[in-house]
Amino acid sequence: MKTVVQVKLLPTPGQASALAATLHACNEAADFVSRVAFERNVKSRNELQKLCYQAVKCEFGLSAQPAVRVVKKVVDAYTALRANIRVGNLGGVRSRRRINAESKPIAFRQWAAQPFDDCCLSWGLDARTVSIWTTAGRLKNVPFAGSPEQLVMLRAHRRGESDLVSRDGKWFLVATCEIPEKPQFEPIDWIGVDRGITNLATTSDLANFQGRRLQRYRRWHARKRAELQAKRTKSATRRAKRRARREQRHATHVNHKISKEIVAVAERTGRGVALEELHGIRDRVRLHRYQRATQSSWPFHQLERHITYKARRAGVPVLLVDARYTSQTCPRCKHTSRSNRPTRDSFSCRRCGLAGPADVVAAVNIRDRARRAWVLVNVPLPAAA
Ligand SMILES: [Zn+2]
Repeated sequence: MKTVVQVKLLPTPGQASALAATLHACNEAADFVSRVAFERNVKSRNELQKLCYQAVKCEFGLSAQPAVRVVKKVVDAYTALRANIRVGNLGGVRSRRRINAESKPIAFRQWAAQPFDDCCLSWGLDARTVSIWTTAGRLKNVPFAGSPEQLVMLRAHRRGESDLVSRDGKWFLVATCEIPEKPQFEPIDWIGVDRGITNLATTSDLANFQGRRLQRYRRWHARKRAELQAKRTKSATRRAKRRARREQRHATHVNHKISKEIVAVAERTGRGVALEELHGIRDRVRLHRYQRATQSSWPFHQLERHITYKARRAGVPVLLVDARYTSQTCPRCKHTSRSNRPTRDSFSCRRCGLAGPADVVAAVNIRDRARRAWVLVNVPLPAAA
């Protein structure tokens, strides 16, 4: 399966301006190729390359390999657009988004990422440097920062292209890695995971990932963002966007940490991971107004993707179970009622008296549903008569 490793480049100011000039030249060239593809309705990569190759090399100062990459980037962008239209992601035939997308060539932002293959980019993993082609010649020994795990991954599994990315004045390389999957094992039991607001994830083992500090951090960000948005100036909007991106990166980091830990425990104990199906997570709990902003922006889907993906790598089975009433059902006597939830965070069964934190009860219910579902899935089919 594919994964990516992102490392931060640490170029000198001179190297950084060479990288910037290169990115701009590649994207201007891509814009040109995109116009040709659109006007002549060329879909084939070979044909487009024949039409554009010379011009891209001479007019935009790209050498042979980057010119080929630019053409491929454009062809890939059109392929992706057609696929999106086909599955209806841009709406029906009459939707404005679709008409907009189909009526003009795809445009490439000045700072859009650019793929580099091994001819144009070589990695010195021991020295933590790269050598990279630019329009100002080849830059050698550009240092990068990477963790020991990232280096191990790059050394063992990096394949093919890496993207050069510039974000808020910083430079990154995003390398594609192809890693082997482990065969899925037969779980001896399940870990139920409940996703929620106060605690982002609570497991039926009583581990919970929260929470308070993170909530403060998100609330603080939300407030700062609102202040900036209220100003309505160009620079304030830009800073608000930057802040939103930073918050998003933080959320991704937290989701990585949570999913890593859950999957590691599952793998170590030979269990599978059970999650509730996500649609409806927002209306399952009633919230205060201040919570709504922070809660609805939490990437729960991303957490699910991280768990699923890490589980696949480790051979851990993942099961999605029906989320209905997981927070209102008593795990002991199965009595289901809204009044089992005297407050948002607590559970107290009206019939048998079982009481505890609501998210733990939900996680236990999710685990129990997975146990039942797995038995059903694994019942041998009756032999044909
Ligand atoms: Zn009960």
